[in-house]
Amino acid sequence: QSEVLRDNGVATPKMPPFDYTPPPYTGPTADEIFAQRKEYLSPSMFYFYNKPLNIVDGKRQYLFDESGRRYLDGFGGIATVSCGHCHPDVVEAIVNQTKRIQHSTILYLNHAIGDFAQALASKLPANLKVVFFTNSGTEANELAMLIARLYTGSHDIISLRNAYHGNAAGTMGATAQGNWKFNVIQSGVHHAVNPDPYRGVFGADGEKYANDVQDLIDFGTSGHVAGFMCEAIQGVGGIVELAQGYLPAVYNSVKKAGGLFIADEVQCGFARTGSNFWGFEGHGVVPDIVTMAKGIGNGIPLGAVVTTPEVAEVLTRRNYFNTFGGNPVCTAAGLAVLKVIEKEKLQDNAFVVGSYLKERLNALKDKYELIGDVRGRGLMLGVELVTDRELKTPAKAETEHIMENMKDLGVLIGKGGFRGNVFRITPPLCFTKDDADFLVDAMDYTMSKI
Ligand code: PLP
Repeated sequence: QSEVLRDNGVATPKMPPFDYTPPPYTGPTADEIFAQRKEYLSPSMFYFYNKPLNIVDGKRQYLFDESGRRYLDGFGGIATVSCGHCHPDVVEAIVNQTKRIQHSTILYLNHAIGDFAQALASKLPANLKVVFFTNSGTEANELAMLIARLYTGSHDIISLRNAYHGNAAGTMGATAQGNWKFNVIQSGVHHAVNPDPYRGVFGADGEKYANDVQDLIDFGTSGHVAGFMCEAIQGVGGIVELAQGYLPAVYNSVKKAGGLFIADEVQCGFARTGSNFWGFEGHGVVPDIVTMAKGIGNGIPLGAVVTTPEVAEVLTRRNYFNTFGGNPVCTAAGLAVLKVIEKEKLQDNAFVVGSYLKERLNALKDKYELIGDVRGRGLMLGVELVTDRELKTPAKAETEHIMENMKDLGVLIGKGGFRGNVFRITPPLCFTKDDADFLVDAMDYTMSKI
């Protein structure tokens, strides 16, 4: 339990009403599960809170612990729960499909796979229409890197410092945060200076960062590259947006060097940023390969690589296979998620509620010196805490303290960034303005006590 908050004038935040009572829970207690986890699960697993919650139910934007206590889910899995926990349409699609056939492998036909592939293609521009399904974002990015290398005949890939692209052999090389790397040998990935408008060495000057990529191509490679991979908004890296003008300039350099542009939409795609369906949209470039996972299955393991027929052709040179990728149960879920996003206009909601939430967070920034930066788009927002605005000294302890106390008030948010001092707010896209008020009020209340 975190420390008891002193009262100093800011009203106690009130959770919006929600008409749902989860069924009684009769399973093991949080203490029992925690003890079991310590003994039987990998010690690498970590958690956000001093005492992790035992979450036994989820409904739309809310989670429930073993006692039936309700929490506002401001993290949405990890930006995975796009249309809300246990959305009835998604549940129905999964149940219906699982009753008919759970797994048929790619050796046979099943329409659930093609239906989702076709629906995905309809959401992408140009000739991006050939889909290869995977189980995760890591697998999708591994495949994207392989395709780019095969297509171009070059091994050199450029990614950004502070990027997170996954944790298998190739993608760990593309990930560029020391705390997510183990022993990466000859990854063939070169890391460009991060075009981070808040902390980056060139401030908000997108062109200067883009020059660094040209430099990297000229001095770090043979001049011929396989591709450039980036997130339009870095998620794990602490919700970092690309400096204005960066992507079109980099795109030109990469194209001149014969490379492909890989958009990693694992976290920022699928309507999350509100103004667009994909994060890369609005930057004036069309990728050659788009990777996705997380929100496309609403929490069901599902990832995908989408590219053009011309590029996809390289995979016919040998056998390429993924046992569970494109499982009909997962793709049925994916199709249902997409339909819910459209039916409930969740992209518009992400824009409207996200803009409102950002406005309120910015007002909080005016009130507390502790907030150094508020950033992001739609319902992918970051709040960076610093103890000194000039020096941008990371306020890691304060970040943890505030998160813990917000949890006690009934609000769950994420944290991240290399320095561990950024709140990550990526709720289900059905988040409401009342939810946004509750989240900000809880942050305000907690900050007012430290
Ligand atoms: N790419 C991005 C942008 C991510 O945020 C992540 C995971 O956080 C990945 C790739 C890896 O996805 P997964 O954890 O599903 O392997």
